Amino acid sequence: MKPFNTDNIKQLRAEIDKLGGTIVLVPHINPDGDAIGSVLGLANILKNAGKQVVVIVPNHFPEFLKWMKGSEELVVYVNAREKAQKIIAEAAMICCLDFNHLSRTGEMKELIENFEGQRVMIDHHPYPQGFADLELSHPDYSSTAELVFQVVKAMGYEQYIDLAAAECLFCGIMTDTGSFDYNVSDPQTFNTVSELLALGVNPEDIHGRVFDNYSVDRMRLMGHCLSECMEVFPEYHAAVMYLSKETKARFNYQKGDNEGFVNMPLSIKDIHFSAFFTENDDQIKASFRSKGEFAVNEFATAHFNGGGHRNAAGGEVFDSLKAVVDRFRKLLPEYAEELKRTKLD
Ligand code: 5GP
Ligand code: MN
Repeated sequence: MKPFNTDNIKQLRAEIDKLGGTIVLVPHINPDGDAIGSVLGLANILKNAGKQVVVIVPNHFPEFLKWMKGSEELVVYVNAREKAQKIIAEAAMICCLDFNHLSRTGEMKELIENFEGQRVMIDHHPYPQGFADLELSHPDYSSTAELVFQVVKAMGYEQYIDLAAAECLFCGIMTDTGSFDYNVSDPQTFNTVSELLALGVNPEDIHGRVFDNYSVDRMRLMGHCLSECMEVFPEYHAAVMYLSKETKARFNYQKGDNEGFVNMPLSIKDIHFSAFFTENDDQIKASFRSKGEFAVNEFATAHFNGGGHRNAAGGEVFDSLKAVVDRFRKLLPEYAEELKRTKLD
């Protein structure tokens, strides 16, 4: 097992043991498989341990994650602000999962900032903001879900990990590693997966629920983006794709239909930096992926008000899609040397 600060884990266990009230679990805005898998995995485990738990997500979450146990009960902040505020006002602890900066919670930011109870953070993103009273920050983990599994075990709560919780955590690891494609060089990740399988998880079944669940429109949208909205820059080992509001309308776009598009150009030989821009009503959402050393989180922070991991990052900008894509094109020469010498590891 990767070394933990055992004092932190002991403190977390002690805090949870003596807690009278509710524990609120919160993932980041636009939650992905790891965010939802981590909160619902931990929620199920804590409930099995007899704790009172409520999950509050900042906004809607994708349909293909709605099979997880507890997903039917979670509170979506933007749909139930008053209810969520009341729950938080009465809660004893807020546990923040899969994010390291309060700006990642959208409208919930001030609520968490002003919360008077215990704030815990369990996360695997680098450079934590330091907003939590108890911070379990482990950027060396593949996913927050893997971290939750190891934290729960280290807390002595292993017996509370049932099949439903194991399925949630498996989904988190699977999605954050691109189905075991990246961030999987540490044997511990597979040891964790092995333990989850021993609890009864059926990996093919979970994979199918998440990835073989697309609409015809989404498949056609993907084909359109690949053929009409992708530019490849072989000299920079880079590619960009974009999705305009017009294209969205043409393919009856549903939230989440662009999930995974940003990864596709990385399948092109010698392309190891990919950008994807989606035009929304109020902003342009940027997604970046890389293979090897090129740090897309630094790129996202420097130019797109964002951050993330070395190989997976995002951000947002407030400009026209055309201007944003153009800006991206113009940035590439600045990174020519770095992109050229990028070693794949
Ligand atoms: P995605 O491209 O899937 O939206 O995001 C990939 C990763 O980038 C996320 O796991 C998250 O760490 C980070 N990320 C995405 N959007 C933002 C953003 O707007 N700000 C920051 N700081 N990180 C982001
Ligand atoms: Mn994650």
